[in-house]
Amino acid sequence: MDSTTRRSWAEPFKIKMVEPIRVMSRAERERAIGEAGFNTFLLKSDDVYIDLLTDSGTSAMSDYQWAGMMLGDEAYAGSRNFYHLEEAVRKYYGYKYIVPTHQGRAAEHILSRIAIKPGDYVPGNMYFTTTRLHQELAGGTFEDVIIDEAHDPTSVHPFKGNVDLDKLESLIKRVGPERIPYVSLAATVNMAGGQPISLANMRAVRELTNRYGIRVILDAARAVENAYFIQQRETGYAETPVATILREMCGYTDGCTMSAKKDPLVNIGGFLALNDPELFEEARNLIVVYEGLHTYGGLAGRDMEAMARGIEEAVNDDSIRARVGQVEYLGNQLLAADAPIVTPIGGHAVYLDARRFYPQLKQDEFPAQMLAAQLYLDSGVRSMERGIVSAGRDPETGEHHYPKLELVRLAIPRRVYTQSHMDVVAESVAEVYRQRRDVRGLRMTFEPKYLRFFQARFEPLG
Ligand SMILES: *Cc1c(COP(=O)(O)O)cnc(C)c1O
Repeated sequence: MDSTTRRSWAEPFKIKMVEPIRVMSRAERERAIGEAGFNTFLLKSDDVYIDLLTDSGTSAMSDYQWAGMMLGDEAYAGSRNFYHLEEAVRKYYGYKYIVPTHQGRAAEHILSRIAIKPGDYVPGNMYFTTTRLHQELAGGTFEDVIIDEAHDPTSVHPFKGNVDLDKLESLIKRVGPERIPYVSLAATVNMAGGQPISLANMRAVRELTNRYGIRVILDAARAVENAYFIQQRETGYAETPVATILREMCGYTDGCTMSAKKDPLVNIGGFLALNDPELFEEARNLIVVYEGLHTYGGLAGRDMEAMARGIEEAVNDDSIRARVGQVEYLGNQLLAADAPIVTPIGGHAVYLDARRFYPQLKQDEFPAQMLAAQLYLDSGVRSMERGIVSAGRDPETGEHHYPKLELVRLAIPRRVYTQSHMDVVAESVAEVYRQRRDVRGLRMTFEPKYLRFFQARFEPLG
């Protein structure tokens, strides 16, 4: 190690502006979670102490990004910030054509509309809530082709995001390649616990799909975090910059949907990137119906500038190391406290295994929903359910999906909280784990039709 190499994951930045937060009393938290129907999505942010609901759009921008906000070119058409964004995507992701969108699901919507026909199948390495819904609304059926290890919270497979090539090929043989518009590849896989896919696996998926003439579309929201895991875990990449790995990953795909509220460090924004000029032409046409002109897609010029600059900052090796390092720090605190979490520790979040917290609860008593509420009650830390509520219902049968994973996600916003905040979170999880035996479940009292986890309401049983 030479003298210029940093020894720890300590953040490669210092704090220039702060925002006060406060802890409420236990009585105030009891009132707040009751009013929120035991759903952390329905809490007011003012009632939250440390907010680990999501890492989506909650990052702190840099002085360089804020400076870029002042350079917004708010022309209706052809804003210079669009060209900066296009240049950044071409340079760091390597795709040819892009349309900006207001966030990730808008890109998923456009892609699903132009690529999926009723009766099609879309294989993917585990579902994501909004991704699958847009595939279904376009008439497609999502098929999970992730390796079995991904569904086991205790498996320590280094690449739990990998595609099971046999599952993928047997689907292709069963329904025929013409009914598979693309393979939907997520890096990292959020619902599996922020787990990465390996380059070797991506290469193999590319080879297999090439044989059948099937496209591969990347969900690139956290592809930089995935690239970091490849650098750390995949043989032969220890010395390769994350930016180089990212380009290789994207090179095995035909395009991506992006929620820029994740890796690219902005509070709002996204894009759809494609290499096929014909498909791009269709996307560019539909974007004016749903988002805005193809050179702003629902965003202000200043937002596109912040995104272009965030993309550049996100691939810096020291930055991504500090980002994932902080998540690992929290995860290791929890492992030391014997709290049951998904291993390996994810890239953007630590996931608590609610089944092992509350073995006394049946899955339709919503153990993860209750665990998120208990954590809030204990300390004002806000987290999110990623279990049966998030999984929703089967559109055919109307029954709950019963996912193997019943998790609570502690997602860490980028560049927002300190190591001592992580210590507070770890102490609170340990306390909630100590009190696990007396906890009863929940009953759902209100269920929205789509993406129910956002707005559903619950009541304690008994
Ligand atoms: C957040 C997210 C999306 C959806 O993006 P939004 O910006 O929230 O609309 C899609 N895929 C993954 C993996 C995500 O994390």
